[in-house]
Amino acid sequence: MKHHCLVVAAACLAAACSSSSTDSTPAAAASAPASSSQATPGQSPHWGIVMHAGAGNFTLADLRERREPMREALTAALVAGHNVLKSGGASLDAVQAAIVILEDSPYFNAGKGAVFNHEGKNELDSSIMDGATHRAGAVAGLRHIKNPVLLARLVMERSPHVMMVGEGAEAFAKEQGGIAFVDEKYFYTERSWQALQRELEKEKKPTASGTARVNEPSRAGAYFGTVGAVALDRQGNLAAATSTGGMTNKRFGRVGDSPIIGSGTYADNHSCAISSTGHGEFFIRYTVAKDICARVEYKSEKVQAAADAVVQDELKKAGGEGGVIGMDYAGNLAVSFNTTGMSRGYVGEDGKAVVMFTTEDAGPLGPRPK
Ligand code: ASP
Repeated sequence: MKHHCLVVAAACLAAACSSSSTDSTPAAAASAPASSSQATPGQSPHWGIVMHAGAGNFTLADLRERREPMREALTAALVAGHNVLKSGGASLDAVQAAIVILEDSPYFNAGKGAVFNHEGKNELDSSIMDGATHRAGAVAGLRHIKNPVLLARLVMERSPHVMMVGEGAEAFAKEQGGIAFVDEKYFYTERSWQALQRELEKEKKPTASGTARVNEPSRAGAYFGTVGAVALDRQGNLAAATSTGGMTNKRFGRVGDSPIIGSGTYADNHSCAISSTGHGEFFIRYTVAKDICARVEYKSEKVQAAADAVVQDELKKAGGEGGVIGMDYAGNLAVSFNTTGMSRGYVGEDGKAVVMFTTEDAGPLGPRPK
C-alpha cells in the first residue's frame, strides 16, 4: 500500500508535464511532445530536483536496517533542494544543499560514509556544473574535507581552474577559508571498513589461473553509494553535482568518473543535466553524462531515451554497471540503471518527495530494464 502510494505520488509529480496525459510517468513525460511552454531552452514550468544515492546489485532485503535511515536522509536532501528552488533560488544552490546533507550522513559513500581505498584511507571526489554558464568545479583525492561538493563549488567560483586534486585542493580550501576540515578518523564507518576487509580477503584467494589477483576495485555486489543531484530552477537553469568516496579497495590515487566533467557530472541549459553512479572507469571511457546530453542536443532524443541508450545499451554491452539521473531543460526526468538497485528520489513543484531503491519498487522513477 505504501509502495503503491509512492508510485502514485511520483506519477502525480511527473503529471505536471500534462494533466490530460493518460500515462503521466517521467518516461511518458520524456517521450511526450514538448508543449510550446516546454520547447524553449531557458523556460520551464517544471522545476524540481532528482537525486541518486548510488547503484549496485542489491535488493531491498540487502539494505535491511539501512533502508529507512537512507530514505529519511534522501527525503531530507530532496526537501532541502526543493526549499531552495521554491524560494526562487538557483539550481546550483539546490543541488549543493541536497548533496551536503548526504555527505553528512554515514549511510552513503560520500563525505562521512566514504569507502576505503586499498591502503585503508579515504579519498573523496566531487564535482558541480552550472548549465547556464558551463562553469564547472571538481576536486579529487581529498583526505580532510568534510563536504567535498563545497570545495568543488569554490574551485568553480574562486579559481581560474576546473579541477584541483589532493594536497593542492586542500591548500586552496585553506587559503580561501570557509571550508570545514576534519581529521581522517571522521570518515571511519564500520560498514565501509568491513567492506574493505572483505575485498582484501578476496584478493588473497588465488585466481583460477593461479596468478596473483590484481587489486581491482570491487564490482559484483558492491553497494555503490555515491550521491548525485540534478535540478532545474524557476529561471530555467539546470545544474548537476556528484560526490563520492570512489570504490572500495581502489588504488591510492585512483580517480573515478564522479569528479570528471562530462562523465560523472554534466549540465547544459540547451540539453540536459546528468549525474552518474557506477563503475567509474566505464563512465569515463564512455563520457556518459556528456554523451546523454549530446544525444538530446544533436539527435533531439528525449532525455529518458538518451539515458537508456547509453546506460542500457552501450554501457551494459561493455560491462559497465551503474546508472544515471537526469533532467532536461523542460524538467522532464530521466532515471536509468542497469543494476538491480539504484537509490533515487525526486521532488517537483508540489513538494512531495518520492524515494525508491531497486527494480522491486520500479515505477515512475524507472528503470525500464531490457
Ligand atoms: N562512480 C564512482 C567511482 O567510480 C563510484 C560510484 O558511483 O559508486 O568512483
